[in-house]
Amino acid sequence: MATANLYDVLGVARDASPQQIEDAFNQLKDLYQQDPAAVGGEQGMAQIEDAYAILSDAYRRADYDLDMTEASHGGEPGQVETIHCQKCDAMPIQPRYLVFWRVFSFILFTNRSPVQGVYCAPCARKEALGATALTGIVGWWGIPWGPIWTIGKGFQNVACGEKPAGVSEALAWQNVVAFANMGDMASAQAGAQHLLTSRDPSTMEAAHNFLEACKADGVPPAEPTEDAWKPNIPQAILRVLLLLWVPIALIAWISTADGGSSARAEPSYYSDTVPVARIDPETGMQEVPVEDLVTCDNPPANGAVLAGQENLAAEGHQLEIDNGSSGNAIVNVRNSQTNDLLVSFYVSRGETGSVSGLADGTYKMQYALGGPLDEDCRMFAGDFSASAFPDPETFRAQYVNDERGEGYIYEVLTFTLYSVPGGNVRPQGIADDAFLAE
Ligand SMILES: [Zn+2]
Repeated sequence: MATANLYDVLGVARDASPQQIEDAFNQLKDLYQQDPAAVGGEQGMAQIEDAYAILSDAYRRADYDLDMTEASHGGEPGQVETIHCQKCDAMPIQPRYLVFWRVFSFILFTNRSPVQGVYCAPCARKEALGATALTGIVGWWGIPWGPIWTIGKGFQNVACGEKPAGVSEALAWQNVVAFANMGDMASAQAGAQHLLTSRDPSTMEAAHNFLEACKADGVPPAEPTEDAWKPNIPQAILRVLLLLWVPIALIAWISTADGGSSARAEPSYYSDTVPVARIDPETGMQEVPVEDLVTCDNPPANGAVLAGQENLAAEGHQLEIDNGSSGNAIVNVRNSQTNDLLVSFYVSRGETGSVSGLADGTYKMQYALGGPLDEDCRMFAGDFSASAFPDPETFRAQYVNDERGEGYIYEVLTFTLYSVPGGNVRPQGIADDAFLAE
């Protein structure tokens, strides 16, 4: 009896998963412990262990699969084994032997598991997508091997599978011979044409000789078929995103949270309504309709400093205002002890503006919402509503001297102004005078 093939030794199918192979091996091992004769004694068990050592290793299994197809290749012409996609059973002109990886990890546990075999191009793309998506979700979460394998093995999925050297070409050549034996000369020639660029010199030469022989025999030449494995860029990008969404999301989250330096970002909720006209404080009556006010011709840019430019240094902390309210905003930064106005800046409705260069210190922040600015473009033309942020904020630069260099890390503080629909609430309202004080 010829040596049984390793799959038969373990009693599993050619396309068995690593788990199925392991289960079969464990069952045989148990059986041997209960009754050694049941598996052919010591010798039988040794054979089973050899088979398991090869089939449980993705690379050795690929080599073995190739040897098996080459062995069957040596038979009578006409009995050449045809190579089929293990997923859809098609007989592709350009089959490939591929290994895809699934990486699972959690805390200290990491597992990588290969899925491998012969694929047609469409099935390989599906497998690549599935393995990438799975690895992208469950691969990252172990230390330290989760991210290392997720990237290392994951990019092999992104590249549409790992290709053990020379195996795919040998399979494709085998299908050329099989197609020729079946009389499908168009497919045989198409397959041979694709192998003309093979990196394996003997396959390339065989393909070349085959095409010459077809020509000599007067076989009608076949139209070259499109390369089934031509890289599909949108799909590759999709796979990259599926693999890397965890770190991408993390980076996006960190960068929105701190704007590039060490930072705290407090989304703060303030609601206010924007007056539409100047109100006479004595009478409480509307004095000038807003459309009749003389207003600023060139409104300042977002973050433009209206007062106190001299108090800002070249380097320092940053205060950012995200103005989601329904009015334009002027923001005042005051010394929390003396109440002196340090800087005042402008952010129009719906925009974001910031000032940088604030020195270390504790500051009180005020803001006013209103309509258009006056002729001087420094204060609102009409009435405005002023509020204060509830608590003083302290900025402290951090001195660092490490591998990144030496210097100070400044803080970035972001406040968001919101309008509550229909709201007329001023939780931190202050008098106009308190806002306008120098
Ligand atoms: Zn297929």
